[in-house]
Amino acid sequence: CGIVGYIGLNDTKEILLRGLEKLEYRGYDSAGIAVINEKGVHVFKEKGRIADLRNTVDFDVLAQTGIGHTRWATHGVPSTINSHPHQSASGRFTLVHNGVIENYEILKREYLQDVNFTSETDTEVIVQLIEVFAGEGLSTEEAFRKTLQLLKGSYALALLDDQNEEAIFVAKNKSPLLVGLGDSFNVVASDAMAMLQVTDQYVELMDKEMVIVTRNAVTIKNLNGDVITREPYTAELDA
Ligand code: GLU
Repeated sequence: CGIVGYIGLNDTKEILLRGLEKLEYRGYDSAGIAVINEKGVHVFKEKGRIADLRNTVDFDVLAQTGIGHTRWATHGVPSTINSHPHQSASGRFTLVHNGVIENYEILKREYLQDVNFTSETDTEVIVQLIEVFAGEGLSTEEAFRKTLQLLKGSYALALLDDQNEEAIFVAKNKSPLLVGLGDSFNVVASDAMAMLQVTDQYVELMDKEMVIVTRNAVTIKNLNGDVITREPYTAELDA
């Protein structure tokens, strides 16, 4: 399983699909991508191989921001509905997740009694919580941080907000996730291997950090919202 993300000036779909192909070695049962443009978020997902996902992607949809996922099912059978990305009830937020949320049933009972769920995954709880907290007046960043503070378990996350095509929100805890730096673009990947064809400059993320990734900036924060500075390193793997 793995995660990729891209925000830049090129069309994102092929970059995401190639990145997912590089992550195939980690094992998966389904895959998906979401891209965002001025018309909103477009989700393509499919049980099976990346080649099957390619067949479902509408290559006429152009977008410069997107996220992708290969799934190794832990909660809910491998199926197209349970594949990531998952969306909040209104469709505003779109999320990919690797890992396991151990307290998802408690969170669902406590905060999400009135929400209609689409999938059987633990992941959907995360994206529905973000929407509920945003609906209470928090900014996306604040709603994301509040949600992260409630999660128990492991996660690598990448989030899109359909009201902001200029950012990818990411976070990690006990699952690998890196941010890669480019010239007028930035990327997200579980493994530098996924994005070595576009950059060899990476910033390591620590557990319980969140990052706002835009085309020209990478802002790392702890869950209190304090900014953290960290120098990138050069990845030296064969692409
Ligand atoms: N627990 C999530 C699911 O079952 C994510 C699995 C993964 O890491 O791919 O959908």
